[in-house]
Amino acid sequence: MTELYQHRARKRFGQNFLHDAGVIHRILRAIHGRPGERLLEIGPGQGALTEGLLGSGARLDVIELDQDLIPLLRLKFGLNPLFTLHQGDAMKYDLSSIAAGDRLRVVGNLPYNISTPLIFHLLSFADIIADMHFMLQKEVVERLAAVPGNGDWGRLSIMVQYHCRVEHLFNVGPGAFNPPPKVDSAIVRLVPHTERPHVARDPVLLERVVREAFGQRRKTLRNTLKGTLDSAAIEAADVDPGLRPEQLDLAAYVRLANQLASS
Ligand code: SAM
Repeated sequence: MTELYQHRARKRFGQNFLHDAGVIHRILRAIHGRPGERLLEIGPGQGALTEGLLGSGARLDVIELDQDLIPLLRLKFGLNPLFTLHQGDAMKYDLSSIAAGDRLRVVGNLPYNISTPLIFHLLSFADIIADMHFMLQKEVVERLAAVPGNGDWGRLSIMVQYHCRVEHLFNVGPGAFNPPPKVDSAIVRLVPHTERPHVARDPVLLERVVREAFGQRRKTLRNTLKGTLDSAAIEAADVDPGLRPEQLDLAAYVRLANQLASS
């Protein structure tokens, strides 16, 4: 690139640009875009993944917050008819306006400072998303993919697994980025269920039960859910009130939420 477009990575936008060609190829192979598909990249940055995504022949929309990166992205990809650039905050985007009736495959080396709220925002569009591939802080991927009984199992695991199948694909060290982040990273694949294995009558109540249960991880459900569900109601959902929140699986949380819905 010419000096005109040299960009200094900005911390406040969570900018750690990928520069390891091996890692970039591995991510692109995992995504495996095809002509006719609709891809959406969040935070294209300087285009490390964008180039390969467009090379797949799929249509690609990108959302980039940093205005200073827009001229570079236009210069690199603006002439490609498959490419559409949106400048703005992905947290505020209505994805249905981009999808326009298609199902989106969402991709992003996400800014780590906003990755959790961004994932929750995207989950509200789960029914128009075919799949998602994200680079995230490794610890966050471990929480997403956690199983009950494990210390990582919590609100994030349960709410994401309610909507999606989660696959921890591979880890990426700090050296793959410029500047290198202080943490290890990992690639995760989230595939929204076409049919949910467990259905909450009111997902807002599921969110509430999970939040309250994990408000105090070390206490028993009898205590953490006090004021929401008493012991008899917990037992009516076929759950032992003497258990701690991390001992319950997704199905048990959905039963508790449905018990609350019927009370
Ligand atoms: N995809 C590029 C790469 O792999 O090299 C850049 C990844 S960098 C970790 C995150 C990117 O997301 C940056 O380009 C940053 O400006 C952009 N970004 C940060 N917050 C955003 C937001 N709310 N909406 C859209 N893009 C955002």
